[in-house]
Amino acid sequence: MYDIAIIGAGASGLLAALTLSQSKKVCVIEADERVGGRAHTRYGLFSTAIETGAEFVHGNLPVTLSLLKKFKIKYFKVGGDIWEKRNGHFKKDDEFIENPEVIIQKLRELKQDISVAAFLDMYFKDKQYDELVKSICRYTEGFNAADVSRASSFFLLNQLREEEEVQYRIDGGYGRLISAMHERCISQHCDFYLSSAVQTIRWAENEVKIATLNDKTFEAKQVLITVPCAVLQKDDEGKRGIQFMPAIQAKMEAIDAMGCGMVIKVLLEFSIPFWKLPQIREKPGANLGEFFFLFSEEAIPTWWTQRPVENNILTGWLAGPKALSLKNRSSAEILELSLQSLSNLFEVPVSMLISQLKKHHIENWSTHPFAKQAYNYVTPQTKAAVKILAEPVMNTLFFAGETLYDDSAAGTVEAAFVSSVLATDRLLGTAQNKM
Ligand SMILES: Cc1cc2nc3c(=O)[nH]c(=O)nc-3n(C[C@H](O)[C@H](O)[C@H](O)COP(=O)(O)OP(=O)(O)OC[C@H]3O[C@@H](n4cnc5c(N)ncnc54)[C@H](O)[C@@H]3O)c2cc1C
Repeated sequence: MYDIAIIGAGASGLLAALTLSQSKKVCVIEADERVGGRAHTRYGLFSTAIETGAEFVHGNLPVTLSLLKKFKIKYFKVGGDIWEKRNGHFKKDDEFIENPEVIIQKLRELKQDISVAAFLDMYFKDKQYDELVKSICRYTEGFNAADVSRASSFFLLNQLREEEEVQYRIDGGYGRLISAMHERCISQHCDFYLSSAVQTIRWAENEVKIATLNDKTFEAKQVLITVPCAVLQKDDEGKRGIQFMPAIQAKMEAIDAMGCGMVIKVLLEFSIPFWKLPQIREKPGANLGEFFFLFSEEAIPTWWTQRPVENNILTGWLAGPKALSLKNRSSAEILELSLQSLSNLFEVPVSMLISQLKKHHIENWSTHPFAKQAYNYVTPQTKAAVKILAEPVMNTLFFAGETLYDDSAAGTVEAAFVSSVLATDRLLGTAQNKM
């Protein structure tokens, strides 16, 4: 019998295991054959490590940075030129949204939170605002992976008001932090059970029986559930990924109120950085050789390089409802769309790109069996739902994970870590749990 069983070995589950296994008998039950969840650095596929999930540290995020320091893992600032190609023209841009002040002013007038779509409809219906509306939709979908008809206007206001934050990459990738945490947990005698997808949780006060798809059973006094939101939400057939017996209806209603964002991430390695060739680099009005981000209207609209690291890798990004609409497309079809998008953007033949393409990797997160989503976005219902989920059930069932977060770092590894710190505080019955 374990004191605490943790379900899911992503960022939140690992941090909880790290803290709890210092004083409790803990096991971690993970569906996948590896730890890390949506922080998944792949080594050995390309000439360098690639991030198929989380990639950046979006700002000076306290828990993430303190863990990197604790494990002596270096991180470095990223940045460079941001370009946009619209209607066939390139434009250097350092603002994701032009003239955000007019939007900010109207957002401030809102007395209660409504969806971004309802907000735009209320104030910016006139034709003169078409471009502005499009840019808000692109931002909400592209950056937050959100559906504008469900995304929170208050959250949009927070994002637009915030000073531009510095961004970092982790030297060697998020995988280094994940491995360091995993190893430390093992050294603290925390047991890990991989390839063990939890199917049912039978519970009574201080008594939990967990059964997995591969017929393993576990007993614990308390359980911390850290699986992605989309795993717990009802699927197309109305089934949830984990059954609770007895049912916990209020918690599942809170889960259903959350926004699960979808992303397709495309990684391509070429034999040369073709975008630096003089005939490509010097497009009319543009010098693309040093580009970091390039936004466009193509099927795979957003592309970035590894700057300041110089290599031959491009990352493509499609997020929000458009990513969901390609849910059932094969990797070969997504690759074709990607190469066509790059061909249109850089005005080069697809055949030239194919001849230079060395490696490719497509990660379609909405079809990932143990994630079913990329990351959460904030809806007008999120705040209330987080409060419901954070409240333990009879001091026995606890929840954590990036879903249980509604502040400015929503949808990040930091959100997962913060939720984990709060949950372990509750599990240990201490308000000032130190990492
Ligand atoms: C494409 C993409 C890009 C991203 N970019 C960034 C970024 O640049 N910066 C950033 O900070 N964040 C980014 N994120 C978000 C970040 O990856 C997540 O917020 C974070 O990793 C979530 O951690 P978690 O522990 O809450 O969930 P997860 O990492 O999903 O961990 C949950 C674990 O539960 C397991 N599980 C699922 N079902 C079961 C079951 N039935 N039984 C047992 N185990 C189960 C899963 O396999 C998984 O390991 C990105 C995510 C994606 C997908």
